[in-house]
Amino acid sequence: MSGQLTIVGLGPGPAGWVTPAANAAVAAADVMLGYAPYLARLTPRAGQIFEASDNREELQRAVRALELASQGKRVVMVSGGDPGVFAMAAAVFEAVEKNPGLANDFDIRVEPGITAMLAAAARIGAPLGHDFCAISLSDNLKPWEVIERRLRLAAEADFVIALYNPASKARPNQIRHAFRILNSARKPETTVIFARAVGRDDEEIEVTTLKEAPDALCDMRTLVIVGSDATRSLRGNKGRIWVYTPRSARGK
Ligand code: SAH
Repeated sequence: MSGQLTIVGLGPGPAGWVTPAANAAVAAADVMLGYAPYLARLTPRAGQIFEASDNREELQRAVRALELASQGKRVVMVSGGDPGVFAMAAAVFEAVEKNPGLANDFDIRVEPGITAMLAAAARIGAPLGHDFCAISLSDNLKPWEVIERRLRLAAEADFVIALYNPASKARPNQIRHAFRILNSARKPETTVIFARAVGRDDEEIEVTTLKEAPDALCDMRTLVIVGSDATRSLRGNKGRIWVYTPRSARGK
């Protein structure tokens, strides 16, 4: 029997945010691979093998997935959010490129999921209503200078900016540097959203401004959205705050 490798996005957390296609791929898998907390969201059915690995072992995990699929197994690799956004799908294609021949006999599919920035945006209104970009602040795989340059140019171009991986225990201060750079190119009243653990029981959403932002809550489960010049807040029903970015830019 020929194998299959499907890289599946499980969304930010809630079962209702997983697509039926992702669930079907999970149900059909012989072997499930992934970072332990993502696998912990799933219940193995009889005969299904779960292989959890550490967060830092992405390339080894990808090679392992190719090997199992080339042996005829139906393999599912899980990612949080969308597997193509700072996640396992790119690691799998890197492994394919580095191991020519290993992926000749089976099909690879990517099943999309709701990425953190879309879930965070939905919770607070429509901050991504006009042009935006996404930047990971992790310097595990790119030099910090590259991150600084991208932040500076994105700020200058007045994109709404979604910041993934804003802080971790090993990098508690980079978010401050990032805000310093953004502060020098954007007005201090620019809206900033901290969306922590979106879709989980301990979800917290905080709306603040660039000037206040360095003191706000931020960790590895937080997604930060920095507004553009046009992003604004509205007070809705019962004092609720909505943030949105109008569809048209100034001058239109
Ligand atoms: N593939 C994932 C992103 C992986 S990078 C996706 O598409 O969402 C990991 C970063 O994603 C975290 O540091 C955080 O910035 C963000 N993130 C993932 N899940 C989140 C959640 N439930 N709430 C807020 N941010 C989240």
